[in-house]
Amino acid sequence: MSGSGREAGAERDSDGVSPVGPELRSGTARELFRQLTGGAEAGVWSAPGRVNLIGEHTDYNEGFVLPFAIDRRTEVAAAPRTDGVLRVVSTFGGEPVSLPVADLVRAHAGGELRGWSAYPLGVAWALGEFGADLAALPGADLAIDSTVPVGAGLSSSAAIESAVALALTELWGLAHSRETLAKVGQRAENDAVGAPTGIMDQSASLLGRLDAAVFLDCRSLAAEVVPLGFAEAGLVLRVIDTGVRHEHATGGYRERRASCEAGAAALGVPALRDLEPGDLDRARKLLDDITFRRVRHVVTEDRRVLDTVRTLRADGAAAIGPLLDASHVSMRDDFEISVPELDVAVESARAAGALGARMTGGGFGGAAIALAPADAVAAISEAVELAFAARGFAPPTQFTVVPSDGAHRDS
Ligand code: ADP
Ligand code: MG
Repeated sequence: MSGSGREAGAERDSDGVSPVGPELRSGTARELFRQLTGGAEAGVWSAPGRVNLIGEHTDYNEGFVLPFAIDRRTEVAAAPRTDGVLRVVSTFGGEPVSLPVADLVRAHAGGELRGWSAYPLGVAWALGEFGADLAALPGADLAIDSTVPVGAGLSSSAAIESAVALALTELWGLAHSRETLAKVGQRAENDAVGAPTGIMDQSASLLGRLDAAVFLDCRSLAAEVVPLGFAEAGLVLRVIDTGVRHEHATGGYRERRASCEAGAAALGVPALRDLEPGDLDRARKLLDDITFRRVRHVVTEDRRVLDTVRTLRADGAAAIGPLLDASHVSMRDDFEISVPELDVAVESARAAGALGARMTGGGFGGAAIALAPADAVAAISEAVELAFAARGFAPPTQFTVVPSDGAHRDS
């Protein structure tokens, strides 16, 4: 999934689509678009990354999540073509990639959608799976730029999928709801990229609202906007990116999913969502220790999401700290998806005044979040930096994220 190497379709640039040089790899999406085409875009669309406030590895267990869209976005400057070719380029590097839209199904079946371009081309392919007549579409040029860090657990993947899905839908005159676009992005990520992720990230990126979180029931896909009120309460949400990078498509993520499926099957429920904390005694007797702990994480995490929503509404954001803390302990000890860098980030932030902290995202690296009084931010930054240095870890990147609006057309 890294963006290295030659991408699917790059060699097709001989068929009348001019190859573009490496000087493309800087500037905004709009500038990149001009460099690619020599002309102006028809529009710019953008979609945010997300932070998951709480509810980790519950989405594919048909449970609850509470992410919010952040003020880091992926921009797509785009215009339709007339020759049926879809051409994509990103400031993140790699050759521009182009492919006739009518060839997407064949290219997907042949495993030709690879590297970073599998995200935007996969979205176009998935629009076909959701009813678009790919052979009849005029094609498009897409130039992509992003301020969402890649692989940090902030879902740069959903940001690119959602921005591209919205851009193509509007360019091509397709009528899809935001909820369907979330499914389109997920289908692209699952079937074109090959990462078995749930619906959470795309939902947050498409349905997010300023100063609010998206409370999502991953079974019914019912979504509710829950006001966060961080600023009002004098709080900020800090992200501590450990710099440790994960690979979702392989290893731990798949293994955890498999354990959850095995646990649900052994307990005779369609998904772990269907278990209550009161079922855990029975689970402990039926399951091996590892599967039991995986199940316990998911069952208790679902409760923590519901408790967080209730607490936010009843008592405000300052009261949710202990739930964030408990979520981290559960991921560290039961689900075993934390790494030492994440544990140190969480512990040092908390010791320096954070009200609560937890790793966020799929795990095995990425970022932690800390909810903190605004006046504790400087002390937390310093404490985390010192703790990382003391352990010999590479310096983390720390920044504030602001709950922001979901995908929209910018111009
Ligand atoms: P995360 O979603 O946590 O950031 P993923 O591994 O799920 O990490 O997705 C990251 C991948 O998405 C990158 O390796 C790249 O292939 C693709 N990607 C994300 N943003 C961009 C972008 N702006 N341009 C090109 N590819 C991108
Ligand atoms: Mg991702």
